Amino acid sequence: MANLVNGNDIFADARAHHYAVGAYNINNLEWTRAILKAAKDTQTPVLVQVSMGAARYMGGYKFVKDMVEDQVDSMGVNVPVILHLDHGDYEAALECIKLGYPSVMFDGHQLPIAENYQKTKEIVKLAHAQNISVEAEIGKIGENQNAASGELATVEDAVRFAQIGVDKLACGIGNIHGIYPADWQGLNFQRLDEIANAISIPLVLHGGSGIHRDQVERAISLGISKVNINTEFQLAFQQATRKYIEEGHDLDKEHKGYDPRKLLLPGTEAITASMKEMIQWLGTPSVDEISQD
Ligand SMILES: [Zn+2]
Repeated sequence: MANLVNGNDIFADARAHHYAVGAYNINNLEWTRAILKAAKDTQTPVLVQVSMGAARYMGGYKFVKDMVEDQVDSMGVNVPVILHLDHGDYEAALECIKLGYPSVMFDGHQLPIAENYQKTKEIVKLAHAQNISVEAEIGKIGENQNAASGELATVEDAVRFAQIGVDKLACGIGNIHGIYPADWQGLNFQRLDEIANAISIPLVLHGGSGIHRDQVERAISLGISKVNINTEFQLAFQQATRKYIEEGHDLDKEHKGYDPRKLLLPGTEAITASMKEMIQWLGTPSVDEISQD
């Protein structure tokens, strides 16, 4: 049976050697297969993550875990696969810990910082008893083209959260979920550098889609070890699907262009291609290269 891992060794190695491993969101079966295929083809470790909304859409956390495990087995995926809950609230994190997800994010950024701290501490205790990795969030990631809705993480909070044993930390550094606006100010490298100098745990860059490559590379050189990618694949899927339909392939009755397995194929292949490019950006080494050092 598929052996999902918590990724702690991989992310520690990433932080030490200045590369990142992509954290790719899944939305359905096609997304899952496209991501696992890119990981297998490139022989690189992969983190497959599911948001609360996507898990609800697919039928729940247990279904998602079973599906990922079964796909890993049926596709013969022979690289480390980390299954991770993305932006879980307290209840979601507890449920995924119970189900044996190897990695969870507890996102308490909307809570007062004292409560975020307290709840993160509880989650860490429960998770670590089962060898489950925990990501927490401090500061705030901006939402949907609105950089002003974000909030910079402070060095003091980073140190406090690292001290309670959090395995990875997502810090607000001017990043945004969704599509970046044309007048975006860019990442706050000064704050990232200050945080990276203060704590040695792997740091997480949320909203990794649509940031210029040189900024992503600089963030990784400073201590970002996990880069979350979601919007990038949604756009790749959308564009390839739009092209298929605009070229009229779905209307081709003779070749059954309306068959969902054909209709969804270009988008699925576009996700795999987009991920292979992202692996280059992040400098994710192959499994062989990681085990050599
Ligand atoms: Zn995020």
